[in-house]
Amino acid sequence: MSTFNASGLLPRELVHLDARVADKADAIRQATGLLTAAGCVRPAFEASMLRREAAADTFLGKGIAIPHGMVDERELIQRDGIAVLQVRDGVEWNAGQRAHLVVAIAARSDAHIGILRRLTRLMADDARLAMLARTDDPDALIRALAGVEVAPDEADAPAEDFARRFDWVVDYPSGLHARPATEWAETARRFAARVRVRHGAEAADARNLIALLQLGLRYGDTVTVSADGPDAADALATLRIVLAGLSAREKADAEKAERKRRAAAGAWQPPGAAEAVTGVGASPGLAIGRLHRLHAGPMVVPDEPVDLVEAADRLHGALARARDELRAVADDTSRRLGAADAAIFRAQAELLNDPALITLASQHLVEGHGVAWAWHAAVEETAGRLASLGNAVLAGRATDLRDVGHRVLAQIDPALARPAAAEVPAGSILVAEDLTPSDTAGLDAERVVGIVTAQGGPTSHTAILARTLGLPAVVGAGAALAALEAGAPAIVDGSGGRLFLAPSDADLASARAWIAAEEARRAQAAEARALPARTRDGHSVSIGANINLADQAAFAIAQGAEGVGLMRTEFLFLERGETPSEEDQYQAYKAMADALQGRPLVIRALDIGGDKQVAHLELPREENPFLGVRGARLLLRRPELLVPQIRALYRAGRDGAPISVMFPMITSAAELLALRETCERIREELQAPKLPLGIMIEVPSAALLAADLAQHADFFSIGTNDLTQYTLAIDRQNPVLAPEADSLHPAVLRLIGLTVQGAHMHGRWVGVCGGLAGDPHGAALLAGLGVDELSMTPRDIPAVKERLRAAELPALQALARQALAAPDAAAVRALADGGEGA
Ligand code: PEP
Ligand code: MG
Repeated sequence: MSTFNASGLLPRELVHLDARVADKADAIRQATGLLTAAGCVRPAFEASMLRREAAADTFLGKGIAIPHGMVDERELIQRDGIAVLQVRDGVEWNAGQRAHLVVAIAARSDAHIGILRRLTRLMADDARLAMLARTDDPDALIRALAGVEVAPDEADAPAEDFARRFDWVVDYPSGLHARPATEWAETARRFAARVRVRHGAEAADARNLIALLQLGLRYGDTVTVSADGPDAADALATLRIVLAGLSAREKADAEKAERKRRAAAGAWQPPGAAEAVTGVGASPGLAIGRLHRLHAGPMVVPDEPVDLVEAADRLHGALARARDELRAVADDTSRRLGAADAAIFRAQAELLNDPALITLASQHLVEGHGVAWAWHAAVEETAGRLASLGNAVLAGRATDLRDVGHRVLAQIDPALARPAAAEVPAGSILVAEDLTPSDTAGLDAERVVGIVTAQGGPTSHTAILARTLGLPAVVGAGAALAALEAGAPAIVDGSGGRLFLAPSDADLASARAWIAAEEARRAQAAEARALPARTRDGHSVSIGANINLADQAAFAIAQGAEGVGLMRTEFLFLERGETPSEEDQYQAYKAMADALQGRPLVIRALDIGGDKQVAHLELPREENPFLGVRGARLLLRRPELLVPQIRALYRAGRDGAPISVMFPMITSAAELLALRETCERIREELQAPKLPLGIMIEVPSAALLAADLAQHADFFSIGTNDLTQYTLAIDRQNPVLAPEADSLHPAVLRLIGLTVQGAHMHGRWVGVCGGLAGDPHGAALLAGLGVDELSMTPRDIPAVKERLRAAELPALQALARQALAAPDAAAVRALADGGEGA
């Protein structure tokens, strides 16, 4: 590892905080002024820097510019140094690119590369960059460029605690695995303080997910969490709440897994003595198929070196796109499979923030390797280290790291993308060394009937996803798999953890009978799901699904959806890395309508802002994005986003699709009227039929004005996720306050009651498409409040239907009245146990 230390190059007098600069040339002038005053360069260096600007692009990305002189004018440098201008409002560096940190480099030696490496590492840390762009502490910048706080240094340091500290006993039954560790790291990163977690002689920087996981914490281990820095006390207080706050969920998850394991215990037994490969049952069920081998052979990544600045750009571009993609995958997984499974991909995104990994990749770049090669080598080295520690949890993370590594690799060079697992023949039992969560989440359940892997454990993310997908899976079956013949018939038993080879006719017949009995049981359940959500006394509530992709429609319908109550369109923008054209959008909307075969479809106009940031739109940074230009506010300010989307929607409507259009984040009638006007103009241009135009009720002002808004809106859909956040003033992403952000709060329910009254006054229907709709108790209350439609994640539909079908309307209304009069959310929740009207 290089011994380069930037701190000697960057004394305090070379840091200028809150610099006021007129333009790029002025920024370069001021930075050179600092370097000249410190005796680093001659005044003529300024002209050399400006010549360099004309010859090459020095914008590194993410708000950092690195002006430097011409290579052949190094004699103007008297001693190495760097000057940093912090420009809080940013200065335009190139068209559309603003620099917030101008790092002027005067380096005769290879110090330039060292600085770039620090910057490369820093650029992987958005939160820290944002903090540096506005910090009042010059030392924060010096530390960042000197890299003294990052993991490798931390790992080398003796395991000592900082002065402020607390001890905590790990009470997570599965130990500290990736999902809770991600939340620890995310919390620690919100503070400027250095936070250390120590177990015995081992310590980790709490911001570094991999370092935390490497502690290998198990149930019952005692850790010391200590912090140092201006906000150390706050950081520790918050961490203490987060650490303990996750215990309940961890225990519940462990119990659920145990219940599933016990339910799967009655495994099938073959009548004959079929040869079997034994592993560990990871997902229950029995399937007959033919073996299909996936990803044979190691990956060959070419080494094609490029200029270092370009290399850094390419790596960081790929990391950013991979992060966007993971956000979209998490979003999609949460709609399809649920929030717990989506957390797998959030945890994966966190792996990309590991400074040690980025540093390793940067070092390979600095050594002169190509971008793809450097990244792949860094991932393999890190994953290999994790896998060799003899800890099943860490071995699982190695798989995650390789998975996420491939995602980045495909972004660096699309030719390196691995073939999709979807290209397998129908009726396949997939046999693989290991399967990544991405492979598993992307499996086509129509073609794949089961999974067998040589490696992996039952708690791996792949196993979790297989269970959610309902695919029988055996993991950890070992080297015996390598000898199996592709295409051979087999029976996979995910409950007993066995793969039966060369099954006899009797074995096959017995397995078929077992599968048929299982299917009959499932069909019975499906029949119940297809029944309407009608109470015993005949009151019906419409049931919709929240899905984004046409290929999710069949599953939603199978779960009992009668249509789509919320198609979020953000994913179209998130997944591509560019704004989709009108034609692309038209195709996506039409595909969804086709997949629904005449069922109603509510498509929500783009809801960007708040937690949904789209990098390529380059929206200005806001202090409080949830209170900023998001949803309808953004649409009204960006006609280039609004108009193509509305045109695409009306074109789909002109084809006969039963589409309703819904606008997010409406706070006033004026916004709605302006949007209606645009819609009407476009409709006339296209000579399309009228489409119902509705709004989301997500802010208290809209709920309070529901009766007025109902005069202009054809329908309402209540977004309880945002309505709860804005009513209770709790950021929906804040992990500390998460337990209090309860949509069952009587204040939220009263606003929902007002919304229903206002809508019904004008004969409009009201739906709920936020998370509350998918909670059986919440759904009962909403039905009692008079809500006409509930739209939810498809998997939530059966339980909601069952709850409503067992009820009678007057009892639900009485339940709602009790809830409205309750003092707090806990009291409303307690009503679930008392039964309606009790
Ligand atoms: C909501 O806010 O409840 C909602 C459905 O919208 P989103 O979760 O997409 O913000
Ligand atoms: Mg919302």
